[in-house]
Amino acid sequence: MNELEQLAELIFPDITDTIDDLEKRYPQRNLPDNAIVARFAPSPTGFLHTGSLFATLIAWKFPHQTSGIFYTRLEDTDTKREIEGSGEELLKQLEAFGIMPDEGYMGSYEKGNYGPYKQSQRANIYKVVIKDFIKRGLAYPCFCSSESLNEMRKYQEEHKLNPGYYGEFAKCSYLSPKVAMERIKNHEPYVIRFRSTGNYQNKIKITDLIRGNLELAENDQHIVILKSDGLPTYHFAHLVDDHFMRTTHVTRGEEWLPSLPIHYELFEKAGWEKPKYAHLPVIMKLDNGNRRKLSKRKDPEAAVSYFLENGYPAQGILEYLITIANSNFEEWRLQNMNANIFDFTLSFDKMTLDGALFDLAKVKNICKERLARLNKDEFTKQAYEYALKYDDNLKALIKRDENYFKEIINIEREKDNPRKDYETFKDVYPIINFFYSDLYEKSLTNELPFNLERFDKATIIKVLNTYKDDMGLEYDEENWFNNLKNISEKCGFCSNVKEYKKNKEAYLGHVGDVSEMIRIAISTRKNTPNLYYVLKILGEKEVITRIDKVIDKLS
Ligand code: GLU
Repeated sequence: MNELEQLAELIFPDITDTIDDLEKRYPQRNLPDNAIVARFAPSPTGFLHTGSLFATLIAWKFPHQTSGIFYTRLEDTDTKREIEGSGEELLKQLEAFGIMPDEGYMGSYEKGNYGPYKQSQRANIYKVVIKDFIKRGLAYPCFCSSESLNEMRKYQEEHKLNPGYYGEFAKCSYLSPKVAMERIKNHEPYVIRFRSTGNYQNKIKITDLIRGNLELAENDQHIVILKSDGLPTYHFAHLVDDHFMRTTHVTRGEEWLPSLPIHYELFEKAGWEKPKYAHLPVIMKLDNGNRRKLSKRKDPEAAVSYFLENGYPAQGILEYLITIANSNFEEWRLQNMNANIFDFTLSFDKMTLDGALFDLAKVKNICKERLARLNKDEFTKQAYEYALKYDDNLKALIKRDENYFKEIINIEREKDNPRKDYETFKDVYPIINFFYSDLYEKSLTNELPFNLERFDKATIIKVLNTYKDDMGLEYDEENWFNNLKNISEKCGFCSNVKEYKKNKEAYLGHVGDVSEMIRIAISTRKNTPNLYYVLKILGEKEVITRIDKVIDKLS
């Protein structure tokens, strides 16, 4: 045994597996050429960030359009920052968006042959590779105390030198294996560092699938690869996990781009093929004219849970994120208004480059459009799922009579250009509760929003009475409206808005004013879904009852 081998044995006496063993245990995946294997690798340090949902959507979509594999890995090596239970919570939230891993860490269990998928359970795998690195002189123990590292940092600052552990500052890289072994035997604490041979002055060529060819300074940092707690750092875990889990594409936030030279050197020294890299744009927000990152502290919409709790349809949020991802999506959507978003083919070269701006108004528009395009059964199913968790009132309504609910939300739905009444499922209860007699009666105790400045009570009563006697509900919508025009004329209102505007003195108001009076009377609101259908659903008897009540209230 040479000295390096002795050193490796001294540090890892229990590690008997070799890299070859790992290569056999985690063989190349048997997938079609060009199949993409990508992953979502969250750290369990809090909630699911909207930016992470964006990254996950992309990591999920590419494998799905290439018959590949999307898997999840829990990056829980930073035990100090870990928040109990947040790993499971992240997975649950992904599920709410219909993004299910094919393999990997699933919250309460694991699935697949490339595990364990929790980094804290992979310590021995990392150690096999590190042991090999030590034997090959690619890694070494470092005994530098935090005081001496602080002094080094101060010195570098004062002398305007690049910070870090490199070159002449990498003191322990100069220790002979013999000295290192003595110090270990003396129980001196240590970490393991990677021995870089790079030079910061050199440029290396790097290819990013989104950003194209880049030149970055070569890595020269002797980064820590194994911490004193026996767990690896991000960089080393990335090397080992993405190699042995056979990731083909690393899709991750652009904050990792500056570390890419480290990863290049690690892969090269290990002698392994590098995955392809795609560094995704960070999601930004316009704040008083300035762009800044979507912030956990300042922006409620930075947490995915915000959308779920407020009843945004999952598909609407995903659709919005795809519009951020690929500039050609919106054009595709216009040509495929009812298609499933996942039928769109995502591509790396159409990916937005700069920090993408998060636009809540646009999110709302998209959600409105998507909700309008759900058929009544799907709408009801999703509304109920939302209500079960977040909206007792809505839950009660749907439970009372599901068919009645469907009839209501089906007003002007299931057609080419459906009506957009709801932005979120949270809107549903306040918009439709008047359909239910008891809830209507409750709101009847409030002041009704009649325009009493323009019309006195006697006029309103006259309109309501006239309408009550001839509701026209047996007609189709057009003829119902013609009937309403007749009623308007009978009551002294103009049946044509344009004409009314030309000759206001001749009339009390116009047909729109008449329909507003009816609308208010039967719903207590100035805005409702299409009045004709509202009246039809309520039915003659109920409409008469309601009108009588309002007349009573006005008299
Ligand atoms: N755990 C890392 C993070 O949460 C993952 C980055 C990656 O996907 O490689 O930022």
